[in-house]
Amino acid sequence: MGFFFLLAVLVTGFYGTFGPVLFSAALSALAWNLFFIPPRFTLAISNPEDIALCAGYFVTALVTGILTNRARELEALATEREVRTLFLYEVVKDILELSKPGEFLQRIALRVEDLTGGKCTIALGEGPAAGGIEFEIKGRHSTFGRLIFSNGDNAPSNDQKILLNSVAQQIGLSLERLSLEEKIREARRLKESEHLHQTLLNSVSHELRTPLTTLMGFASSLKEPTTDTPEFRKALSEGLSEASGRMNRVVGNLLDMSRLNSGTLSLKKEWHDISDLIGVVLNGTKAELGRHRVNVETPALLPLIQMDFQLMEHALSNLVVNAAAYSPPESQISIVAGVRGDRLELTVSDHGPGIPEPSLTKIFEKFYRAPGTPPGGTGLGLSIVKSIVDLHSGKAEVRNLKDGGSAFSISLPLGNPPPNPGEEIHD
Ligand code: ADP
Repeated sequence: MGFFFLLAVLVTGFYGTFGPVLFSAALSALAWNLFFIPPRFTLAISNPEDIALCAGYFVTALVTGILTNRARELEALATEREVRTLFLYEVVKDILELSKPGEFLQRIALRVEDLTGGKCTIALGEGPAAGGIEFEIKGRHSTFGRLIFSNGDNAPSNDQKILLNSVAQQIGLSLERLSLEEKIREARRLKESEHLHQTLLNSVSHELRTPLTTLMGFASSLKEPTTDTPEFRKALSEGLSEASGRMNRVVGNLLDMSRLNSGTLSLKKEWHDISDLIGVVLNGTKAELGRHRVNVETPALLPLIQMDFQLMEHALSNLVVNAAAYSPPESQISIVAGVRGDRLELTVSDHGPGIPEPSLTKIFEKFYRAPGTPPGGTGLGLSIVKSIVDLHSGKAEVRNLKDGGSAFSISLPLGNPPPNPGEEIHD
């Protein structure tokens, strides 16, 4: 019989707390005594062995009841912890996935509301006190705001408080990490821009010095009456135009770079003939091309290309001037245009030393000059070419030629040129 009574105590242990367990253990011991231990239907026990049996039963029932109760409590605690861990895991996942505070805070508030059935608001910064219980959102060094929770008239349970506190802590740490990351990025940007300015200043002052020295030399020699000969005039005019051309290019590149960098540049895109572009560029770079032989290859029927003519002229001029500057005076420079797939490709190639292999990937970067390049350049020309071509949704590339020299190419999307105005349109 004792075992049946014990079963009842176990059930109480499973569902109840210590009080009911004690009560049921005592009650069952009494009932056993009353109904089964002689003399029956009295609480008296005649046999001392029965007294020991009854007391033993009571202790066993109590201990098993308490143990069952503890086991159940531990299980409930483990489940609760699991729920909490899972919830925090979801919160962290939200933060990592969304990474923008505006988005993940909203998602987390919704999650808390789903879990608890209460109302959750996350307020960043100082704000007026809102109704509900508040949890501070703070990182290691600063406080970011509050998580405000209310559930009608019901106060949150202790477990809910622990959970909400952990959520607030997690948000605080993440916000702190994000703000630190932003600070690091900002510092890096500042450092880069400082470096950029420094490099710019160095290269510009260096690059302007050469033509300025030339100009000053000519100016002082003009004072000498003996220099007024036709030969001197010829040399003077050539020297002046070369020096001023060089200065013009440096200043032009600088202006372009700042316009391109500031993002304020608006393209004046119109449909143009590539052969016109090549013609204008060759005309403008006559002085730089000097004794080079220039070979132009363009198919008779090239489609019109939509571009900002002035910018594109600048880009192509930079390539042609580079080809002239970095290849021997009598060598040949080729400018080849042609359609390739859905793009028009324009290639300027020379017979110079080409680009050292490791520099190929960096050649279009700002201020980059390949090692061993003689002084007299800013390293800006190709970066401007790339920026201009990028603005046209095109691609600027470089490769070395098999028999020496380099080939720089610009490819531009073909688009849908307007019908030739001279042609009649038939439907
Ligand atoms: P800069 O000519 O003022 O140095 P660029 O941006 O125009 O600046 O060119 C960057 C570098 O690329 C040059 O310093 C040179 O090392 C290399 N380079 C450019 N064009 C050529 C070329 N046609 N042949 C060999 N090297 C070139």
